[in-house]
Amino acid sequence: MSDLPERLSLREVGPRDGLQNEDPVPTAAKVALIDALSRTGVGRIEAVSFVRPDAIPQMADADEVWRAITPNPDVRYSALVPNLRGAGRALDAGFREIEVVVSASDTHNRKNVNRSTEQSLDEIAAIIAQAHTAGATVQTIVSTAWGCPYEGDVPVDRVLAVAGRALADGADTLSYGDTTGMATPSRVTRLVGETRSAHPDVPLNLHFHNTRGTGLANVLAALELGVSDFDASVGGLGGCPYAPGATGNIATEELVHMVEDMGVATGVDLEAMIAAAAEAERIVGRTLPSQVLRAGPRTRTISAN
Ligand code: ZN
Repeated sequence: MSDLPERLSLREVGPRDGLQNEDPVPTAAKVALIDALSRTGVGRIEAVSFVRPDAIPQMADADEVWRAITPNPDVRYSALVPNLRGAGRALDAGFREIEVVVSASDTHNRKNVNRSTEQSLDEIAAIIAQAHTAGATVQTIVSTAWGCPYEGDVPVDRVLAVAGRALADGADTLSYGDTTGMATPSRVTRLVGETRSAHPDVPLNLHFHNTRGTGLANVLAALELGVSDFDASVGGLGGCPYAPGATGNIATEELVHMVEDMGVATGVDLEAMIAAAAEAERIVGRTLPSQVLRAGPRTRTISAN
């Protein structure tokens, strides 16, 4: 285990990616969840997205949520933006870390935002320039990096080409999203390996979904290559839009539970994260998929009597 990173940088994405894929919840509940998460020791929180309210009603109150939270100075908060207009809103709101998404699959990109991957990359270049002028950093998230619900497998070369274009345009960091849970450990090893060869100095975040049960196995494969930056969602909040009832994001407390026992520090208080997951479950009013939320930490004991 000595080759594993000593410490992970975790980004909690439940308030944004998670809640965006659940039925809308009240503003106060979102604020309470973000504040609870900010007290778990997690270092980064993807708080909101600045999208069109008519397109994504779950995030219509992004400005109100952001104004109402109690910022923890030890936490870095980020916002996801779909376009230049959203980037302007995020920068005006004070965000200095923003995320943009582009799909490696042209069909998926057209279905999502009604334009080609190339056209999205053109706008991302403009967003990067705008953000840098404002002193902010931009992470480009390449979604469907391990497969597309319309096209099936997405070639590694295609993913590398999309990532390479965003980096050439000035993206500060890179993330790969397994949007539909199609990654397996061998595919993670290949894409991360080729990315490292092409861009050895670029910080790489990975965003796995557990749709087919390989989420934590994929994390382990990436850890063994030294990747130390992962997204996860409290409770496993957020479903899979392409398969009703299926699981989406890996659960933060499951990730913390596994890696801490392997000697990899996360800074997260596991019991506090489990409590936040219980709160998330109460907020959305459905049973969340996290197994550590159900069973508790491995050291939890029951009375022998
Ligand atoms: Zn996700």
